[in-house]
Amino acid sequence: MTIGSDWFEHASLSVAHDETNAFEAVVPPIVQTSLFTFETYDEMVATYRGERNRPVYSRGLNPTVRHFEEMLAKLEGGEDALGFGSGMAAISTTVLTFVEPGDRIVAVRNLYPDAYRLFGTLMKRMKVEVTYVDGKDLEAVDHALSGARLLYLESPTSWIMETHDVAALAALGLKHGALSVIDNSWASPVFQRPLELGVDIVLHSASKYLGGHSDVVAGVVTGSKTLIDRIRTETLPYLGGKMSPFDAWLLIRGLRTLPIRMKAHEASAIEIARRLKSLDIVEEVNHPGLANQLPPGLTGTSGLFSFVLRQGVDIRRFCDRLQLFKLGVSWGGHESLVVPGEVVLQQKAQPNSAHAFGMNPRSVRLHVGLEGTEALWRDLEGAFSAAQET
Ligand SMILES: *Cc1c(COP(=O)(O)O)cnc(C)c1O
Repeated sequence: MTIGSDWFEHASLSVAHDETNAFEAVVPPIVQTSLFTFETYDEMVATYRGERNRPVYSRGLNPTVRHFEEMLAKLEGGEDALGFGSGMAAISTTVLTFVEPGDRIVAVRNLYPDAYRLFGTLMKRMKVEVTYVDGKDLEAVDHALSGARLLYLESPTSWIMETHDVAALAALGLKHGALSVIDNSWASPVFQRPLELGVDIVLHSASKYLGGHSDVVAGVVTGSKTLIDRIRTETLPYLGGKMSPFDAWLLIRGLRTLPIRMKAHEASAIEIARRLKSLDIVEEVNHPGLANQLPPGLTGTSGLFSFVLRQGVDIRRFCDRLQLFKLGVSWGGHESLVVPGEVVLQQKAQPNSAHAFGMNPRSVRLHVGLEGTEALWRDLEGAFSAAQET
């Protein structure tokens, strides 16, 4: 999608269920209510019979959440969308909708760690098997997909930021009758629209770029009306991980500036990645924008990437010396963040095997925020010199 007038047309989309906006406020109201009352018995019965579609209870339909869902569906090119209380609720609810005991999932390796742990714990207990594949090796993916129910993708992958040919992977899923699902949190719809590449379902941790201000934990799923309806009716009501109206309101606000923020993250992060690559103390930089060309379908890069420091650089001192880059997980907001790989590798969560995420213990992940490239670079330079003093 091009950034400009069409974006704002999407972002200011008027919403059918928003009947409460009586003052024509430019910002949609937060409909902070659990239930909606009926004027009459007849109205109630018509709603229960499905003759009327209107809000009854906010675990089902809430106007503010619906406004966000419709915006996001439009941005990704989906027919419908559903908001969740977290990205993990979106992932687990979606996967649980489409698999049964005895089924097999094919997933690209180096996944987001909690998605990997979901597959290794709950899915295993449900007798759903997961086969990990190298997403770059289309022949291996083709082979692994035989008899599989679901193809789970991330491109770029978490931490090492390996990119894939998403359209080719989606085509393989289709060939084998496996439903394809992709986590598009990193690229956002500004840089990658996987439904247009043939993927069946796109999901996000809305806690990252969609929200964009580090003040929301939320998730969202989009795709065809038929698939989203299955999630809406078969799993979401019972697992119950619905998005809250206030979080939806914050996300609506976040989406209005998404393309502008993404462009700023992109410009600053690629510049910092290039400068890091030229340093002797940096062994490797994992940033998709440093390759000769981006994979088909990815039209830009965001602010999250990792790099590997040579032996002898004191990573603890490097992190402690940074001032603009704060030590902290997550990403997607205004602020720049740093996560040392050697700390993540010490995590006690079960099952751990963080090595499965492709992490080098001498790697560091950066989220390049919106503070300004030169200020961020000075911060990194200062920390590098501190980390090399003996
Ligand atoms: C953070 C993240 C998630 C999980 O989202 P939550 O909102 O934290 O539950 C999923 N996938 C990716 C790629 C993430 O970075």
